[in-house]
Amino acid sequence: MQYQPFSLKQLALLFSLAMVLSLTGLSLRSFESLSIFWPGNALLVGLLIRFPRLDHPVTLLIMFCGMLTVDLLWGTPLLISVGLNIANMAFVACARWVLLTDRFTGAQPRRLQALVRVFPASMIGAAACAVLGAIVSERYFHDELFKALFSWFSEQLSTSLLLLPLVISLPRRDELKEMKKVRQESSLLPVVTLVITTVAGIWVGGGASLLFPLPALLWCAISYPLFVTCCLTFITGISEIILVASNVLNIQGKDDLFRIDSLSSARVGVAAMLIGPLIVALSTTANKKLVARVTQRADFDLLTGALTRSGLSSRLETLMKPRGKTRNFTGAAFLVDIDRFKNINDTWGHASGDHVLARTAECIRQSLQPSAIICRMGGEEFLVLIEGINPARAFLLANRLRHRIENNEILLNGNNLSVTVSIGLSALDIDHVQSLDAAIDQADQQLYIAKHSGRNQVRPEFVL
Ligand code: GH3
Ligand code: MG
Ligand code: MG
Repeated sequence: MQYQPFSLKQLALLFSLAMVLSLTGLSLRSFESLSIFWPGNALLVGLLIRFPRLDHPVTLLIMFCGMLTVDLLWGTPLLISVGLNIANMAFVACARWVLLTDRFTGAQPRRLQALVRVFPASMIGAAACAVLGAIVSERYFHDELFKALFSWFSEQLSTSLLLLPLVISLPRRDELKEMKKVRQESSLLPVVTLVITTVAGIWVGGGASLLFPLPALLWCAISYPLFVTCCLTFITGISEIILVASNVLNIQGKDDLFRIDSLSSARVGVAAMLIGPLIVALSTTANKKLVARVTQRADFDLLTGALTRSGLSSRLETLMKPRGKTRNFTGAAFLVDIDRFKNINDTWGHASGDHVLARTAECIRQSLQPSAIICRMGGEEFLVLIEGINPARAFLLANRLRHRIENNEILLNGNNLSVTVSIGLSALDIDHVQSLDAAIDQADQQLYIAKHSGRNQVRPEFVL
């Protein structure tokens, strides 16, 4: 960890943030002797994950001082304040260590690794915090040690499982657009079911009622983006805890035979329930990313970045069937083949041949409008489809492309060289992907003629 000194402004900001978070927790101390919700610790850990620059012992010290100041101003005696806030920092330090250490697995992307480890990090952080916190509670508030221990543990565990995934998965600006698209395509049914089952749980009551929303949360986890699921688990979990704390949701029953109070029991119950949807949401997100990567590999040629034939089919399919309706694709098809490419391989070697192929594909891409569809048909042959172009303009464009490639200098082993291409041209008016083959055949015949007429020329299938 390389230490970069913080500016005074940053230190002041951190200090104030720790104060605000501590104040929020203290003001929620109404239902029980301890706060029902102490968001500061989990939020501070989240911050260390999201802003790697903050991830430094100095930050912990500033946070500690901020929280301590608030406790002292709140009227808590010095020794108790120090003890309570050492317990808070124990949570932050332990959870941060579990989330980011590469001791268990090799280092993975920071946010992903942290998300996968939210559960063990919350458990270990909560346990460390509970041990220290309970000692302070027993000593200064004369609480029963076991009850204090469980109260601290359950609160920190549930709060961390509610808040940490939310902060870590909070989308960056570049991720927002993708999320908006997925949200627009998703049904509202899972979230409606979530509301209904949560209300049903409140109405029925009893310990098991906490679990009523679980199936709906799992449904949300496979339907919505990860961050939306984290928001929904947060809202559901915090509502259940507040409802139990304020006795609206009664999970205790009539007989008070339980070893722990119903609020602590509810917190652990909620924490245990939430981990399921979080894991499902994570694995769904990982699967979607994997499918996107595999599709990218299958649809694009690695060497040239052009579409593969299967990529071409699916691109045309989506173009010709927008929202289920079918429309024609009208324009022109160019079959572009590098002249005497074998000589380049023979003279300079296969790797140099690869370089020439990649540079030529790049030149084709840059010479055409972004909507042009470029596909590597195999070897040194490319198919270009241009939509909405008439034959005369297509001929001019193909010739311009030919000139651009001829004048495109490629640096090879310290030498500048260039290649020429022959182009077979055919008009295109197709109503489904399979009809493309006939147009390719016609362009191929013209390409053959171009090759036998001296190369470096364009041959159209139509009469100009
Ligand atoms: P013509 O002007 O008639 O098209 O002659 P040509 O030499 O370009 O055509 P030919 O079909 O005889 O040879 C094409 C060569 O392209 C043969 C093959 O080894 C080479 N080739 C095919 N794919 C690749 C590739 O991915 N990388 C490299 N370096 N060479 C390739
Ligand atoms: Mg060739
Ligand atoms: Mg060829």
